[in-house]
Amino acid sequence: QEKIKFSGVVEDCCCDYETVNKLNDQVLYPSLQELVKTPFFRYFKVKLWCDCPFWPDDGMCRLRDCSVCECPESEFPEAFKKPSSHGLPSDDLVCQEGKPQSAVDRTVDTKAFRGWTVTDNPWTNDDETDNADMTYVNLQLNPERYTGYSGPSARRIWDSVYSENCPKYPSEELCQEERILYKLISGLHSSISIHIAADYLLDEATNLWGQNLTLLYDRVLRYPDRVRNLYFTYLFVLRAVTKAAEYLEQAEYETGNPTDDLKTQSLMKQLLYNPQLQAACPLPFDEAKLWKGQRGPELKQKIQGQFRNVSALMDCIGCEKCRLWGKLQVLGLGTALKILFSVNGQEHLGQTLELQRNEVIALINLLNRLSESVKFIHEMGPAAERLVEGQ
Ligand code: FAD
Repeated sequence: QEKIKFSGVVEDCCCDYETVNKLNDQVLYPSLQELVKTPFFRYFKVKLWCDCPFWPDDGMCRLRDCSVCECPESEFPEAFKKPSSHGLPSDDLVCQEGKPQSAVDRTVDTKAFRGWTVTDNPWTNDDETDNADMTYVNLQLNPERYTGYSGPSARRIWDSVYSENCPKYPSEELCQEERILYKLISGLHSSISIHIAADYLLDEATNLWGQNLTLLYDRVLRYPDRVRNLYFTYLFVLRAVTKAAEYLEQAEYETGNPTDDLKTQSLMKQLLYNPQLQAACPLPFDEAKLWKGQRGPELKQKIQGQFRNVSALMDCIGCEKCRLWGKLQVLGLGTALKILFSVNGQEHLGQTLELQRNEVIALINLLNRLSESVKFIHEMGPAAERLVEGQ
């Protein structure tokens, strides 16, 4: 087996592994961890009950750890609430983990999106302008971790993602842009597997949770490409965030609590204009190199269509919590693609960047997830290798 080498430049990117690890440990991970805990970034708007457009529903998973805890309206920030709302009875104030049927107000106030555009993202399947059946979910209460979701249902989704929508790399015919789509999906897949390994149900009887380093090795580490793709995806999303820095700096992070909102704004600035990041890795990924050939526009449409299919497949996930994180992270990737490729590029002069509130929440939470995965693999990778070698 090839050993993972944390050296050299991350393929198709502009920074090396050592720099990425150092930057992540010292500046990005700590800022992101704080940022995602702020009220603005903790609530994600999502349509969780959707029909799979590709095959008949194979039933939602009934495993306890799959269920998502939805938020009663009383829990989300003032600015997100319906003005006429009188709140919910106090019995419902606690999130009903494991009881999706419990009375939860799913209505969403469009005023919560004040100052933010509500336009459809061309890279995703969901119509983001449609608020029907949307639910707010407190991401802090629903961490991405082991849920027990596996078997044919999970396999069918990954197989469809890879075989139908982004053919296996390396293939002679794949151009750089198509390879990038594959790498983004594979990097996300690695990150999901790493979160499963980092927070695993070790003993069901005693409800003991902890790290599963064998799983980390078996699913990710023993395939160096999967590690490389994780780093690539991290740098790609980081580039999107820094490219949109001006927009993100000026955006409104209003939740109704000025102290919280100022803190969010200042954390955002810290992330966007970090001197260490600017000195060590000013251009994490160079998007200007893409879509140069004659086939550029046609290729972009094709890849956008493929990514939309990946996004639609998230509605086929038979586990609610996996669906939540699948949808969030695919929206985050779609937002990164939109920032890097749909607007502001040389060929798109005159178009200005417009982001929705939910896109920004997805983008930052995705970057945080990737950052956690990079940190985990950097810290625990050697121990996992030793463990497996010693067996
Ligand atoms: P899988 O991870 O299902 O992989 C299937 C096949 O894909 C592998 O055999 C391999 O050929 C290929 N593959 C694997 N990793 C990569 C990679 N990085 N790059 C390229 N190819 C790869 N389960 C949870 O417990 N918690 C979750 O939060 C969760 N979220 C999910 C989100 C989505 C969108 C999906 C589709 C599934 C999710 N699952 C989650 C299920 C989980 O991803 C696995 O499918 C499940 O744990 C079974 O794993 P497996 O070993 O069969 O391999």
